Amino acid sequence: MIDVSTLDITLFLRDYAITTAILIVVILAAYYFKKQPDAPDGINLMIGGFFAMILSKSIVFFEYFMTAKFFTFLEIAFVCFASVLFITASLMNKKIRFAGEMFAYILLAIFLSIPLYAVYFTEAQYLLYLIYYFALGIGFSFMAVGFCGRGAQKETFGFNITAIGLFLLAAFNFVLITKWGRDTFDSINLSLLLNFFVAIGLVLAGNNLLSDKIVQQANEITSGQERLRLIIQASPFPIVISRLRDDRLILVNRKAEALLGIDITRLSEYKLADFFEESGFKTEIMMRLEKSNKIDSLDFLLNKKQSSGVDVWLQLSTHIIDFEYEIALYSSFQDITERKKKEIELFKEATRDPLTGAYTRRFFEEMAEKEIQRSVRYNRPFCLAMIDADHFKNVNDTYGHAIGDKVLKELVATCEKVLRKTDIICRFGGEEFLILLLEIDLSVAQVVTDRLRAIISNIIINTDSGQEVRFTVSIGLVPSTYSTNYDELVKAVDEALYVAKNSGRNRVVALAPQVSSGGAKAAASGSEGNALVQSVPSKKDAEPKPALEMLS
Ligand code: GH3
Ligand code: MG
Ligand code: MG
Repeated sequence: MIDVSTLDITLFLRDYAITTAILIVVILAAYYFKKQPDAPDGINLMIGGFFAMILSKSIVFFEYFMTAKFFTFLEIAFVCFASVLFITASLMNKKIRFAGEMFAYILLAIFLSIPLYAVYFTEAQYLLYLIYYFALGIGFSFMAVGFCGRGAQKETFGFNITAIGLFLLAAFNFVLITKWGRDTFDSINLSLLLNFFVAIGLVLAGNNLLSDKIVQQANEITSGQERLRLIIQASPFPIVISRLRDDRLILVNRKAEALLGIDITRLSEYKLADFFEESGFKTEIMMRLEKSNKIDSLDFLLNKKQSSGVDVWLQLSTHIIDFEYEIALYSSFQDITERKKKEIELFKEATRDPLTGAYTRRFFEEMAEKEIQRSVRYNRPFCLAMIDADHFKNVNDTYGHAIGDKVLKELVATCEKVLRKTDIICRFGGEEFLILLLEIDLSVAQVVTDRLRAIISNIIINTDSGQEVRFTVSIGLVPSTYSTNYDELVKAVDEALYVAKNSGRNRVVALAPQVSSGGAKAAASGSEGNALVQSVPSKKDAEPKPALEMLS
């Protein structure tokens, strides 16, 4: 307490400056503490209390404007105000909310009435000291209790340091109530030291709050991940989590295990790409994921190794997620085999001839147009063949329509067997078929079609009455270099077939652009520049024989 009458202004200014500075340090430390997550509620009141202490020291500058009594009253009043703020702060920190505002006002009224009484109604000096130091002592005591015993807190070192500092400050002030105490301990240095101790404690306590929060958040993340695992495991839908960087599986649920044929003991050996029958499917997924972080409903055929050879169609939905510190793909699957089979059936009905299974003319034309474009763009060769059964009318007339049908079926089945999977067979008319032979030039196509012709001539169809039916075909052939127009190609191949028929049937006739004119230009110039290249019938076939033989 300042005795203004004997104030040495230079000494005062020095002490004032140091005290204020250290109180500001305490306030800043308290602000740092306040900024941490989960900082106690009463911290603002505590900061207010320290401000009130600065004010109590500062009013001496306005001493000139007030009476000595009012000055003393104000000085003690600010300290009492600080004390009330400290007490309320500590009660709030202890979550004792019954205190509330009303409590603080009542406490303030009591605390202010005492200096009022002491200053204006008695002039007992000891009473002033008593109030001044008791108010501070009790305020710091409450705060010290507030900083003790934070059960929920894991790291409490800073809190304990602060509590010790506050207890010492309280004890310091209680001791100063007595004359002996003031004579022995009233030192600005000791007061500053204790305040500084509290400031350090507050910073450390702030760090405790921060590290606790970090640990807590880490725990929350872990338990969140646990929960996600459980949800995935319990899901009624097949779900697979795979790492994005190496495609390896991290987690699958029971449903996915069963659907995808996964051996769970070897989980980490699987890659997501292992489940796709088509090798390009994984690339397609990655390309789509580059545009958007999720894919809805993409159909694929399950790798036959996983389904033991059975056709299983699945629908995949996937999106990129953050899973246990990895960037992962969350993929769910739906079995659409039944639907897909129906779709395939419907597609087949729409694109295939019901008797022979060959493609319909319209679908074939679409495919051929595409193939022509591809051939032009990438300079890849293909050939178009037209096959017509020789004297087929006779087959019908002799053995009946049912045998005729059987012959047509066998004819197509043989073409499929002899030719490559990529070659496309179409029923062009009654007993006329068009074949698109891909990635093949004319010389090879001639060999292939002649072999086909020979194989067909050896087919034997048995009638119900035990008769054996043989038949032959004539084949016209034209290469892609002839024309880039579908209709022109068909017209040309029909011409070649016509030549084959007229020159004795059971043979291949190829229509090719003249070598001298060369390339696509000659092809575009039409049929004047064409040379006929006839196949040489093999020795066995050399003898002209009836296209239709009755061997029984
Ligand atoms: P060519 O050697 O000149 O080709 O003589 P061809 O008898 O084979 O030719 P033509 O065009 O005179 O006869 C074709 C016959 O094919 C007539 C038709 O009854 C028969 N035909 C067309 N479609 C079918 C079919 O789906 N089933 C059966 N059994 N016969 C068919
Ligand atoms: Mg015919
Ligand atoms: Mg015909």
